[in-house]
Formats: sequence, structure tokens, C-alpha cells
Amino acid sequence: MSATSEKNSIVIALDGPAASGKGTLSRLISNHYGLAYLDTGTLYRGVAWLLLSKGIDPADMAKAAGVARDFSVEQITNANIRTPEVGAAASVVAANPGVRAGLLEFQRRFAKTPPGGVKGAVLDGRDIGTVVFPDAAVKFYVTASPSSRAHRRWLELVKDHPDLEEATVYNDLMERDARDGGRADAPMARAEDAELLDTTHLSIDAAFAAARRVIDGVFRR
Ligand code: C5P
Repeated sequence: MSATSEKNSIVIALDGPAASGKGTLSRLISNHYGLAYLDTGTLYRGVAWLLLSKGIDPADMAKAAGVARDFSVEQITNANIRTPEVGAAASVVAANPGVRAGLLEFQRRFAKTPPGGVKGAVLDGRDIGTVVFPDAAVKFYVTASPSSRAHRRWLELVKDHPDLEEATVYNDLMERDARDGGRADAPMARAEDAELLDTTHLSIDAAFAAARRVIDGVFRR
């Protein structure tokens, strides 16, 4: 690999809505190319979890921004951030510009100096290719139909929540998509130069193969 997006560090950006497959794909890409991986949703979920666990309303703009500014992953080491409640609160704090500003630096630092001294990082989120790393070496926008995303997410959650209805998951996802895509600051969006990967009818192997073709094409140039 020779193309770099930061001074010496390669950045691969994957954006898209919840349960599109971008997390699985990002992990596969980071392993294959020997890059670090940052699931940036973890940061927003982490801030939301910290607020909820302190009894603070996630809509409290000033307090949420303060928590984001002081955020470190050590603060959420054993936290259960993968619940629907934390996901919903995460998309509320994510609309707060103070929170986004606090977490922006964290993300850029991670990619510029990736853990383990590796040559770059894969970041997945909603605004990586548009705002966090507009000059990323390779960008993907990963999506899938709303009903297939809801079905995937429901399959993951129903193991621990046997009474959960798929329609509830669908409605939660639609609400989150609307909030993430409709906010004024760094809305979820496909960068103009991002490759579209629609995983509605693609297996993860096929999506990974398509992503590798794009990445290998960029680094061969
Ligand atoms: O990807 P995940 O579902 O874990 O993200 C949780 C929430 O965090 C999203 O719904 C979104 O509101 C927010 N987020 C964001 N920007 C990112 C990553 C996540 O606004 N780069």
C-alpha cells in the first residue's frame, strides 16, 4: 500500500446506517490489510452510557459535551453499550455539536497514531468520509434495505430479549436513521467519492470481495 490520507497513515472510511453490515466489513478489512479498527459508534454509545449511568439527561447539551471532551475508552470498559436504549440515547447525543467536536479529536488522533504502530486505520460511522476524514484513501457507503437491516438487528437482539418484536426494531431503526440523517451537524451521508455497497442481497463474503477489489484498485494506482 502506498496511498496515504493523513501524513503517514492510511485511512479507510466506511459510513452507513445501523445494521448495514459496515461493522463486520470493517473488521474483515482491518484484519486483511493489517490496519487498526475503530467503531466510532462506540464513542457516541459510550458518551450516552456514561450520561445515563450518572442519571443525566442525554439531551443536556452542556453536560453531554463535557463528558465527550473528557471521554476515554477506559471509562466504558465493562459497560453494556449494545442495548436499544443506549443506541437511541447515542443518536440524541450525536446531534449535539459539542459532543461531535469532543469526539472528532479522539477519532483523528486514533487514525494518525494507530495502536500497535500499524500503518493506518479503518473507521466506521456516519460521517467519517464526509467530516472526520474527507481525504480518506478509500471510502465506502454501506447500506441495505430498511427491512433487511431490521431483520438482522432483530436476530442479534432476540437472543437476549426473547419478547422483542421485529416491528419494534424496525421502528427504532427508522427513528434513528431519521435523526442521524436529519441533524444539522455532520448528518449521516454518502461522500461523493464513496463507493456504494448495498448488502441487501449480498453475503458478507461477497461484500468483502467487492470491497477488496476497490481497495486493491486504489493502492495499485
Ligand atoms: O453505529 P452505532 O449504531 O453503534 O452508532 C450509534 C449512534 O452513534 C448512531 O445512531 C449515530 O447517532 C451515532 N454516530 C454518529 N457518528 C458516527 C458514529 C455513530 O453520529 N460516526
